Amino acid sequence: MVIRILSIMSLKEIKYRNFKAKIVKLSKKQAKKDMIYGYYNPNESTIAIQENLGKISYVDTLLHEIAHFIADKSAIRLKNLGEEGVATFIGSEFCKVFLQNPKLITFIKKNLSK
Ligand SMILES: [Zn+2]
Repeated sequence: MVIRILSIMSLKEIKYRNFKAKIVKLSKKQAKKDMIYGYYNPNESTIAIQENLGKISYVDTLLHEIAHFIADKSAIRLKNLGEEGVATFIGSEFCKVFLQNPKLITFIKKNLSK
């Protein structure tokens, strides 16, 4: 049996450099309608994640939206970086995110452990 309950520990926001994105809930109904699990809204600086997602799907979606947040706040055009450049960029920027959001690591650990 797979336990799908997300850790009760809540993440309220993600800090990245001098920016913040608030984590908000996306209703299951809206998510289904838009055929998405989540989205990053640069105008409101929010990361919306569908409610009642499984643990792995939640973390997967959260990291995906954090990547959009990072890309939005970086002047670098990922298209022109090439594979090595993209790999370096992802490593460096996620390092910053993990350093600035120690709770995020705990959250990931709790939700991805068996
Ligand atoms: Zn996307």
